[in-house]
Amino acid sequence: MLFSLPAALRPGKPLLLLSAALVAASCSTTHDPAPVVPVVPPAAPLPEHLTLGNPSGATADTTAYTNFLLLKPEYALSYHRAQGKPNWVSWHLTQADRGSADRQDDFRADAALPAGWYRVQATSYVGSGFDRGHNCPSADRTSSVAANSATFLMTNMIPQAPRNNQQTWANLENFSRAQLSGGTYELYILMGSYGRGGTGSKGFLNTLDNGRVTVPARIWKVVVLLPAGENDAARVTADTRVIAIDTPNDNTLSTDWSQFRTSVDAIEAATGLDLLSAVAPAVQQVIEARTDNGPL
Ligand code: MN
Ligand code: MN
Repeated sequence: MLFSLPAALRPGKPLLLLSAALVAASCSTTHDPAPVVPVVPPAAPLPEHLTLGNPSGATADTTAYTNFLLLKPEYALSYHRAQGKPNWVSWHLTQADRGSADRQDDFRADAALPAGWYRVQATSYVGSGFDRGHNCPSADRTSSVAANSATFLMTNMIPQAPRNNQQTWANLENFSRAQLSGGTYELYILMGSYGRGGTGSKGFLNTLDNGRVTVPARIWKVVVLLPAGENDAARVTADTRVIAIDTPNDNTLSTDWSQFRTSVDAIEAATGLDLLSAVAPAVQQVIEARTDNGPL
């Protein structure tokens, strides 16, 4: 499996080890020397944008070129070097991310990629009939010029059919931001793409930039809505609203995003990812099987 989370990285493992050690300690008799209870360091806290999990177990190991983790203050992503695009991008959205910074439009190559890796250029999509489609949108990062500018790195882009990007997707992005309700709610959002071949404004393409960038066939998004608060992964319950969509990367698609609602499980089955993996498994089972039909 390309995407399988190593057992050692699964949340909860240190706790299991610790409880096993405590059981062993409580079973010892007074004649035995005091058992050595190993000191298990607390698991490092997940980066903010991976609070609900790292869907593919991406790492910053340069040999992991199909699943390379890039952590930025503004979002986290798994990059696929051979496809010249992210597998997924994950970000936390709160009212504090919304400000008055202007859209910077400074599309550019991402210098954070390892030395020697091809860097998709601001001009790489020119003439292809596909937009440079943001994963983490510009309007989700307007707290400062720097935060907004970070969304224009080409590692945050996919070749997206213009109608998908400018209408279907924009409508869902606007809906999502409105759900913040002035700070009453906070959101965790994941966007990704898979498959090969899409239809832009100039027809069908498998790749662009001389084969360096794969045009995905499908584009998905998962939005988790939580009342504003702390300890977010633990606050996701069976009642938490989760909106998942999976759309064709095709310029003839409907602009009504709600028609594309599906379950998280369906996206996991199509992609091999484990989404929301930091949420309790019993809760995942319920919220990932459900297709949202909430108010629009
Ligand atoms: Mn699942
Ligand atoms: Mn899952």
